[in-house]
Amino acid sequence: MDHKRIYNFSAGPAVLPVKVVEKVRDNLLNFDGCGMGVMELSHRGPQFKQIIEDCEANLRELLSIGSDYAVVFTTGGATNQFSMVPMNLAKADGGAASYVVTGSWSKKALAEAKRFTETQVAGTSEDKNFSYLPKNLDIPQNASYVHFTSNNTIFGTQYQNEPEAGGNALVCDASSDFLHKKLDVSKYGLIYAGAQKNLGPAGVTIAIIRKDLLERAPDSLPKMLDYRTYVEGASLSNTPPAFPIYVVGEVLKWLKDQGGLDKMEARNREKAAILYDYIDGNDFYAGTAEKESRSVMNVCFRLKDENLEAEFIKVAGESGFNGLKGHRSVGGVRASIYNAFPKEGVEELVKFMGQFAEAHS
Ligand SMILES: *Cc1c(COP(=O)(O)O)cnc(C)c1O
Repeated sequence: MDHKRIYNFSAGPAVLPVKVVEKVRDNLLNFDGCGMGVMELSHRGPQFKQIIEDCEANLRELLSIGSDYAVVFTTGGATNQFSMVPMNLAKADGGAASYVVTGSWSKKALAEAKRFTETQVAGTSEDKNFSYLPKNLDIPQNASYVHFTSNNTIFGTQYQNEPEAGGNALVCDASSDFLHKKLDVSKYGLIYAGAQKNLGPAGVTIAIIRKDLLERAPDSLPKMLDYRTYVEGASLSNTPPAFPIYVVGEVLKWLKDQGGLDKMEARNREKAAILYDYIDGNDFYAGTAEKESRSVMNVCFRLKDENLEAEFIKVAGESGFNGLKGHRSVGGVRASIYNAFPKEGVEELVKFMGQFAEAHS
């Protein structure tokens, strides 16, 4: 079998750590010597109980999550959270749900919230095609919550620090940068993230919720859209996405083995700097996001001659660099360099970019 892996810059589903993939492979037929494959375990059995408990415990350890927060494993992706958040957190006595609109995902989150509650836009960067993060937010008093997207996967912008929520519950879609660095969970009301960007395979979504907020949900909610069902049933009230949870658990162990989230952050910053320094240092390429808003996860850039972009993506593909095409809504090039993406791959890409520039100047 050919084990050669190419450099996968896909925005998601995305590259996983090789060590994790190898371990998962070894457990597909016989998990931990129990005689059954990991995908074949009952979610009520002792093996899976250990898997999901370890997964939550390691997540709590990595982020120092306090006991006043619940951790739940859901399905339906981050997109389902766009619905669950307003359904569960809208205050019964009014108070608009406030949204910071910094890209396609926050726009979708806002559109979904409108179906369930009053909304308000705290700030938007749509005037400049989401190339920056809006300052001077207009946060209402007594908002139900303030929602923002920590990393804008499509436009390549990212918050360095969370926006001020003015005393309201802060809700974060962290789907594309969750665990890329340590964050102070106690500043948040709710954090959610689909796994397939920076955490594991598609199929599971993690939400971290401050427990007092759970009481806002109306009793009329469908059971599977009520966070309390997941909290009270320890995410086992129905069959959970067992295999993705197992792989996420292995990624969390890998993060701990790498030295934890501060180490990961340093590595992520180093990788992004290699790429941005190169892009800034020549005039063949140009970054699309304003410098102070740039993402260390999704590096978006254009070729000065946009007519060459299709050729760039094609030759890159032939040279072992996959997934570089920018999102269909914005075009250009996007290099997604999540936790599991190796530094060598970034160095190799920069080399390739230099050769391509030389060949076409
Ligand atoms: C990918 C992504 C989503 C959508 O995730 P699904 O799992 O497809 O629902 C939402 N928000 C952000 C920031 C994303 O990157």
